[in-house]
Amino acid sequence: MGKPTGFLEYERIAESYEPVAKRLTRYAEFVPRLTDAQAKIQGARCMDCGIPFCNTGCPVNNIIPDWNDLVYRGNWREAIEVLHSTNNFPEFTSRICPAPCEAACTLNIPHTPVGIKSIERVIIDKAGENGWVVPQPPAQKTGKQVAVVGSGPAGLAAAQQLARAGHAVTVFEKSDRIGGLLRYGIPDFKLDKRLIDWRMAQMRAEGVSFATGVMVTKTRLMDGVHSDAKKTITPEQLRKDFDAVVLAGGAENPRDLPIPGRDLKGVHFALEFLIPQNKEVAGGKKNPINVKGKHVVVIGGGDTGSDCVGTSNRHGAASVTQIELMPRPPAEENGALTWPYWPLKMRTSSSHEEGCERDWAIGTKEFIGGKNNHLTAIRAVRLEWKDGKMAEVPGSEFEIRADFAFLAMGFVGPVGGVLDAFGIAKDPRGNARAETEGAVAYHTNVPRVFAAGDMRRGQSLVVWAIREGRQCARAVDEFLMGASLLPR
Ligand SMILES: Cc1cc2nc3c(=O)[nH]c(=O)nc-3n(C[C@H](O)[C@H](O)[C@H](O)COP(=O)(O)OP(=O)(O)OC[C@H]3O[C@@H](n4cnc5c(N)ncnc54)[C@H](O)[C@@H]3O)c2cc1C
Ligand code: SF4
Repeated sequence: MGKPTGFLEYERIAESYEPVAKRLTRYAEFVPRLTDAQAKIQGARCMDCGIPFCNTGCPVNNIIPDWNDLVYRGNWREAIEVLHSTNNFPEFTSRICPAPCEAACTLNIPHTPVGIKSIERVIIDKAGENGWVVPQPPAQKTGKQVAVVGSGPAGLAAAQQLARAGHAVTVFEKSDRIGGLLRYGIPDFKLDKRLIDWRMAQMRAEGVSFATGVMVTKTRLMDGVHSDAKKTITPEQLRKDFDAVVLAGGAENPRDLPIPGRDLKGVHFALEFLIPQNKEVAGGKKNPINVKGKHVVVIGGGDTGSDCVGTSNRHGAASVTQIELMPRPPAEENGALTWPYWPLKMRTSSSHEEGCERDWAIGTKEFIGGKNNHLTAIRAVRLEWKDGKMAEVPGSEFEIRADFAFLAMGFVGPVGGVLDAFGIAKDPRGNARAETEGAVAYHTNVPRVFAAGDMRRGQSLVVWAIREGRQCARAVDEFLMGASLLPR
């Protein structure tokens, strides 16, 4: 423990944001990292708890008290080693993780958790700048070949771990670039995509091969699911060419809203708006959906919806409204009841702060069209929630002006046909069925085929995808070699 009295002496320092006016002019990240001195003070606040709830609250079980202490002492190089020992990609999590570790921190009881995520960011950024993140190729090759389907955080974590264990790994990705939702989905202002390229260079040097624009299984994709595939490869071919296959294809099928007017122009799935924006920022062609001067309604209150809000404001929308079916959450959690677990409470993202009307307990009844079959308004109704059941409030119908509506109501499962083509048994929600514990962890019902990330657990978080990729890699290594030295 760095400084026994640190938590009494120092306040929590939150990362600052650039002014709204500046950040709305571009798609660049806008959260400057803490200075080294600030990070040291944050590290000094850690109490090195006997039971570090931060460690169990973190899905990858980051060894947080240890790196807090190392940062306080200025031992940055050892800090990155400890951080990398549990997390392959802290450059992603330190930017976009909602930080369940901070919710679990003992100092969150009085709502002043250690700024764990901001410390993580300084550790990894400094390590990158100082050239401390170098390839770790295996000392020996095993001669085994592993195919990873999907290059999101789950597939990348699995691939990196397996390559370091000596296996020849090929990652197949239907998009033209690697990264899954990190690359196409999450806006550039939340995550600078150069970080993905930087990590890929390390992985290539460790022996991972990437095959982009390749769709595993020929299948019809629903609207809102993105593909740049020019080639396909069959499950039979993969199982013939590789000793093991890891399915990490995410849960990309968006939840639809089949109400009258759904087929009007201007009504889109969120990713039909967000992915072309990523491509435009990367130098590709212009986003065909332009909401400059338009009234935008985002339906769905989660991360995806918030990203549509931030992107619409960068376009220069006339107004942005976000509506949600569920009731408005409490402003603060009752810590005595919820700590150390992830609390239900009102969350206001940086995108919301940039300008957005938010409303809760709203049901959407109809998309109303005008000239040229284009959306002009949404007919909605207020809802009352009682004992977990919702009912429409009689006489509460109203209209919201809308030129564009983005559906951001979550995702309902993996892209159609892929699991069926492999013959994979599914759970009741349509995800790949595979246990995370036991002798055959992450192994599906199909011999030599494993599943991890959103494709197994349903739409989740980047940090959970990294955890599953790492744990799945260990299971595959054990399966292929009889034993594994990879961490679980
Ligand atoms: C808009 C948006 C914002 C989000 N923001 C956050 C956030 O701020 N913080 C956070 O923690 N989480 C966030 N999430 C959730 C997070 O991105 C996901 O939980 C995470 O990326 C899942 O990782 P994955 O590797 O399992 O799948 P994905 O990232 O979905 O990657 C799966 C990849 O597999 C590819 N694929 C699928 N099928 C095939 C096939 N048959 N052949 C070849 N390739 C295939 C897909 O093209 C895709 O690239 C967000 C999600 C969305 C949609
Ligand atoms: S719970 Fe908070 S104070 Fe305790 S060890 Fe973890 S980061 Fe430090």
